Amino acid sequence: MNTLRVTGGRVLRADGRVTESDVTIDRDAGTIVAVGDEAVESGERAESGETADETLDADGGLVIPGLVNAHTHVAMTLLRGYADDKPLDPWLREDIWPAEAELTPDDIEAGAELGVLEMIRSGTTAFADMYFAMDRVADVVDRAGLRARLGHGVVTVGKDDADARADVEESLAVATELDGAADGRIRTAFMPHSLTTVGEEFLREGVAAAREADVPVHLHANETTDEVDPIVGERGERPIAYADDLDALGPDDFFAHGVHLDGSEIDRLAEAGTAIVHCPASNMKLASGMAPIQRLREAGVTVALGTDGAASNNDLDVFDEMRDAAMLGKLAADDASAVPAAAVVEMATAGGADALDLPGGRIEPGAAADLAVVDLDAPHLTPVHDPVSHLAYAARGSDVRHTVCDGEVLMCDRKVLTLDADAVQERAAAAASDLVDRVGEQ
Ligand SMILES: [Zn+2]
Repeated sequence: MNTLRVTGGRVLRADGRVTESDVTIDRDAGTIVAVGDEAVESGERAESGETADETLDADGGLVIPGLVNAHTHVAMTLLRGYADDKPLDPWLREDIWPAEAELTPDDIEAGAELGVLEMIRSGTTAFADMYFAMDRVADVVDRAGLRARLGHGVVTVGKDDADARADVEESLAVATELDGAADGRIRTAFMPHSLTTVGEEFLREGVAAAREADVPVHLHANETTDEVDPIVGERGERPIAYADDLDALGPDDFFAHGVHLDGSEIDRLAEAGTAIVHCPASNMKLASGMAPIQRLREAGVTVALGTDGAASNNDLDVFDEMRDAAMLGKLAADDASAVPAAAVVEMATAGGADALDLPGGRIEPGAAADLAVVDLDAPHLTPVHDPVSHLAYAARGSDVRHTVCDGEVLMCDRKVLTLDADAVQERAAAAASDLVDRVGEQ
């Protein structure tokens, strides 16, 4: 067994305890074999004093599960700060969609590299991405060493029948062809953009084909009242009931946002086992509303966290998302004890892994070796009364010292090993500048 041992740190365990323990990883299998003296059968030998092949120094740090960014559009890093301070609908129609129409596969690769670099730097080891040119995004994920659930985003409004059908076909092709890529680190989903931007017949056909191919469905749901009201007006039913009617409400499916949900929809999500990906920064920035996170959790719905695209956030730092989720959750529930620190940490780790049905999210023997080491030796993290409180309220992505995914060290002492950080930033900045020039010429 080729072993990596993370030594000298405190470890956030799967049961919520924080213990001073070493974490031993089987690099070949990409799994954790021992945490302190707790070990899987085959890992006992590695833990009992045997020297590891490689060590990673976590002294003064907190070892946490790799964070999961369960909803983003990673290449939108190119549009970071491009159009701010507008409501969702005009923002999409006047700014984002015209810019996206000019994106080339090369741009998307450059933007995805930048986003993935940012995620590795801030301790994220898995993400879900809905975008275009997904073969290029998959290539970046493969090279960078992360895990992802990827899908081509379908929009059929404003398209003729042939173009709309081609978009659905593309999403289904991506979902079947890329599944299992990057040694199994890439999984896929059928990803209609939302229940209002994709026509009913295309939703029905696409979801049926996704069920046939056994891939999950991911879409934006109940994000704004502008998206809920037309469904209620035209169909006389709420969006989650419509999704159920489309057979798009399964236990492996996961919906972004879930801001405007009524009690019947929360019950329906809980019963179906469909997860909600809460994107608090995007919901605040676009004034979409306050998702009922405390009620969703009390009902037993799996809740994950997502940054959404960098144009509506404007970063991909899941630490920010934890803090925003805890703060906004209290405001939404009008209760300072709602959505506590431990809840948002769970949402960013195990909740994310469960929502995306990807390995990781827990540090325990037998789990995937996806973790990050957070440096606690900083003024804004002193003193350490409660490390979990720090994760939720005080730590930032830049406090991450090491990032490990599938047993491979992706970042060591803040240096990313799988990507050339300077080249990635330079390429993305040039691509973004060219893109804005092209949009200006339209
Ligand atoms: Zn989104």
